[in-house]
Amino acid sequence: MKNIILFGAPGVGKGTQASLLAEKFDLIHLSTGEMLRHEVAEGTPLGLRVKDIMNRGDLVGDDIVVGLIAKALDSGRNQLLDEWDELRLRRACGLGPDDPLPEQPQPSIIYDGFPRTVQQCQMLEFLFQKKNRRLDRVISIDVPQEELVRRIHERAQISNRSDDNEAVIRHRLEEYEAKTRPVLDYYKVSGRLVSVDGSGEITETNTRLCRILQHLLEQ
Ligand code: AMP
Repeated sequence: MKNIILFGAPGVGKGTQASLLAEKFDLIHLSTGEMLRHEVAEGTPLGLRVKDIMNRGDLVGDDIVVGLIAKALDSGRNQLLDEWDELRLRRACGLGPDDPLPEQPQPSIIYDGFPRTVQQCQMLEFLFQKKNRRLDRVISIDVPQEELVRRIHERAQISNRSDDNEAVIRHRLEEYEAKTRPVLDYYKVSGRLVSVDGSGEITETNTRLCRILQHLLEQ
């Protein structure tokens, strides 16, 4: 039962890579951005609260995103059994074919786009203590600024996300520099941070990430 954070600036490809890794290694993929977009699309009270904040490219409140993660960690057996077949669930929990399935299966999780502030890191630690989980690795995908800007131009032309126009993406990068980059220093001291070069093709970055995950999940 591992907990892995995939970290990086907007445009490094966290979402794409997290999906590929989740599929390959049978991980639960928790993306706070996706959860929030779902709330907005459903028009829930939470969605109505965060819609404008997201459209501006600001970060939504720490309590809101931590609340979403806490709820996802609580969702437990039923949701997993609904979404996954038993074989996948067994693999995800490191169980053999004859091992009994636990009441609360604890599969490995990859966190994408969370935590994004030092406060969220501290709240996540508290949450992990309550849920008997621990943070195993923070993987930072590093892409030089010029390449990020190039990708952002490209994405702004093809994306249908309402926060993917150029002005907003630039603001998201500023939010990243001011509030999210300090998360790296927070994790650096714990010795659980590794960095991966994300400047090349998706498959190249994915190969690097797979190597790290393979090693980690075998431990
Ligand atoms: P993403 O899909 O990860 O790029 O997130 C899209 C938007 O959702 C961000 O620009 C924020 O407005 C919001 N968001 C997602 N995750 C977080 C988070 N951990 N903390 C604060 N805001 C978030």
